[in-house]
Amino acid sequence: MSARHPLRLASDPEPVSRPTPPAPGSALRDSFGRTHNNLRISVTDRCNLRCTYCMPEDVTFQDRSELLTFEEIAALVRVAVPLGVNKVRLTGGEPLMRKELYKLVRLLTAVPGLTDIGLTTNGILLAEHSQELFDAGLRRLNVSLDTLDPARFRSLTRRDGLERVLAGLEGAKRAGFSPIKVNAVAVRGFAEHDVVPLARYCRANGFELRFIEYMPIGAEAWEREKVLFASEILDRVQRGVGELVPANHDPSSPSLDYAYSDGGGTVGIIASVSRPFCASCNRLRLTADGKLRNCLFALDETDVKGFLRQATIDESGIANALRTSVWAKWRGHEINTATFVKPGRTMHAIGG
Ligand code: SAM
Ligand code: SF4
Repeated sequence: MSARHPLRLASDPEPVSRPTPPAPGSALRDSFGRTHNNLRISVTDRCNLRCTYCMPEDVTFQDRSELLTFEEIAALVRVAVPLGVNKVRLTGGEPLMRKELYKLVRLLTAVPGLTDIGLTTNGILLAEHSQELFDAGLRRLNVSLDTLDPARFRSLTRRDGLERVLAGLEGAKRAGFSPIKVNAVAVRGFAEHDVVPLARYCRANGFELRFIEYMPIGAEAWEREKVLFASEILDRVQRGVGELVPANHDPSSPSLDYAYSDGGGTVGIIASVSRPFCASCNRLRLTADGKLRNCLFALDETDVKGFLRQATIDESGIANALRTSVWAKWRGHEINTATFVKPGRTMHAIGG
């Protein structure tokens, strides 16, 4: 545990109900009482875009031999599910850069007790893969799209590809995915132009639009002033598209959800900076190279690849690593404080 984040801060109330890590077999609960059922799995750090808020232009990717195989990922999930994980999301890097990703989906849909499998993708390769992913059992899809303007898309992602993303979204809709969420990062000085066009596009196509406040996890220098905040986004949508009313809130979701008062769809905001959701965080992450991270902003990681690459997979070693990693989770990310330290990995190498 890093010195910056002792297990408890002096200002904390007395949330620590257990003085020692939970016993073998018990749920993935941390020392603040948060139970973890949501595992985000990065399948690669490679990407076919270079979004400025996510990764540097010049990036060295990990050797493929470092990446967990689909069988290794599924083996870890089979250990995590009895400990309470029932929800996984495949991400990256760009997860569709992993060949035959649908085969991993198939392995995961066969895990009893895993009730929810999702994928977050930039959509570039979605048109050619949406049907096989759907047929493998995937139903929940998040597609990242920040702008509908090809030149702005190029300047943000350092690549062309808007048409392919739009074709991917259409293909996913045709294949039967539901819900399809469109995620846009809210960077001040950029996103203002795109809020209303994106909201209109999503409303017209039945996609659930969610804005994610820009977080300090990319390669660029970040400051609070560069975040387009939830309140301003909502204001723009209401003025440019239609009245919004608070929607039923799923307590396990980090998103603040709103619905158009005429029933024309929803808009959500993941306000990680202006309204951090650390107090109810239920997420754990697995990097593509087999490290557990108990927070997006964690400074420490726990290796599980070693347990997966033994002659016989060490399931109790994995279970213990999962419990220990969760138990060591800090209270929150402290983005809004002067003591915040950016993790060594940028977003593409963690798994957003
Ligand atoms: N390549 C896939 C994609 O773009 O959807 C999956 C990985 S990407 C790292 C996952 C999500 O993280 C995307 O929705 C992306 O927009 C978001 N993201 C990346 N960098 C971010 C940042 N600095 N702040 C907020 N969200 C970020
Ligand atoms: Fe790639 Fe997704 Fe990062 Fe963009 S946000 S560079 S698409 S991993």
